Amino acid sequence: MHDVTLEITFPLSPQGRLSRVCRNCEGKFQIQEPKEPPQHQYCPYCQHEAGFDQFMTPDQEKLVQSLIFSQLENQMSGVFDESFAKLADLEVAPGGGPKRHDYDEIDQGTATHCYHCHLDYALAGDYKICPHCGKPPL
Ligand SMILES: [Zn+2]
Ligand SMILES: [Zn+2]
Repeated sequence: MHDVTLEITFPLSPQGRLSRVCRNCEGKFQIQEPKEPPQHQYCPYCQHEAGFDQFMTPDQEKLVQSLIFSQLENQMSGVFDESFAKLADLEVAPGGGPKRHDYDEIDQGTATHCYHCHLDYALAGDYKICPHCGKPPL
């Protein structure tokens, strides 16, 4: 989209997990946040493989967009087009400019541990593979 680098820390659940949603089957799951964001991730339900940022939840996407808009606004010395915010469905702060999209993450699903890659995740119902390493559970 634009050539901006953002350091984004997404809210984590009380158990320290990050929510994910699959673009392919819309299945939701949560992962223990890896130290380094991986290039790829797997959907534990339909085994869809995609880039890590392809599994962002609507809240996470909105947070990213609100931060991008804030940064653009800074770069353009305060010129902020509210129609952009409306397109992205962002709230506008009282003084004008985009409002940072904040939200709370809750724990969902059943906590599971992968004995291949030793990372934790949480899932709802039946699943086939680990979202981190893509291997089936032992
Ligand atoms: Zn899926
Ligand atoms: Zn694994």
